[in-house]
Amino acid sequence: MTTLLKAQPVVDQKIADLTKRCQSLIQKGKRPLMKVVLVGNNPASLTYIRNKKKMCETIGAEFELDQLDSSISKTDFLAHVEKLNQNPKVTGIIIQLPVSNELKSLRISQLVTPEKDIDGFHGHNTQWLYEGSIQTNHLLPCTPKGIVELLDYYQIPLKGKHAVVIGRSLIVGKPLSMLLSNRNATVTLAHSKTENLADLTKIADIIISAVGKAELITAKHINPAKKTVVVDVGMNTLHDKLVGDVKFDEVSPLVAAISPVPGGVGPMTVISLIENLILASEKQS
Ligand code: NAD
Repeated sequence: MTTLLKAQPVVDQKIADLTKRCQSLIQKGKRPLMKVVLVGNNPASLTYIRNKKKMCETIGAEFELDQLDSSISKTDFLAHVEKLNQNPKVTGIIIQLPVSNELKSLRISQLVTPEKDIDGFHGHNTQWLYEGSIQTNHLLPCTPKGIVELLDYYQIPLKGKHAVVIGRSLIVGKPLSMLLSNRNATVTLAHSKTENLADLTKIADIIISAVGKAELITAKHINPAKKTVVVDVGMNTLHDKLVGDVKFDEVSPLVAAISPVPGGVGPMTVISLIENLILASEKQS
């Protein structure tokens, strides 16, 4: 029987805890406020933002969206973010990616002040990963944090296990590989130039795909004797449907556990973001 690594039970548990912590902050006169900065009106971004807003409302936190014109200059954009950095009412700031072409040359991940960087992308926050942290009281990048917590909830051991992470982006693959290493997994970080990917995935205990290519991982990447755990981070559209990187119907009967898309890593990322908002608020007060 393949275990489905669904986020919902983990999310439900976390909502109960975060609602209590949010109430306690409100009683102290410090209602957490999440501010999202969106440049333009990318439809996928608007969907992600709606999910963040909904979750803020669920736990009792405040949410505000600053939607900026796609023609905004670098100077005006930087001034806008700096104003939010300085505003004591704002607890956490997210610059929703992607930004406009004009702004792409800015080091977006370094613009939000570390105390309000609830995405966990600022060098000051990722430094904890380099230092080997497994602490939960740091603003860690949300998707890696959510993945490890999903694995923990389903009691999937990491210590001594071989994890193959596919994709080396700044927001998922790289920080995830460090977080898994800090939890004593042996990590292989694969990417677009990796040769013979299937040779690596077939000897993995855990495969985590964060590429963004539908049906990249198929039966040929799995050794059914290994009882592999598969985590699918990908969010792709195939025949008008949201799918991951893994060809689910083909792979799921061959593995011990697999995260579904939707309903797996996506909600874990959102709840980790909300957890970072509460943590940031607690630290600020
Ligand atoms: P990215 O484009 O920044 O990075 C993709 C990585 O995949 C690169 O490092 C590249 O080297 C690697 N890659 C490309 N083709 C490959 C191949 N054929 N074989 C092996 N590696 C290959 O992407 P990202 O921002 O890390 O996002 C990856 C995917 O995860 C996207 O689908 C994105 O939508 C999704 N995502 C989901 C969540 C979530 O919460 N579920 C969060 C973040 C990203």
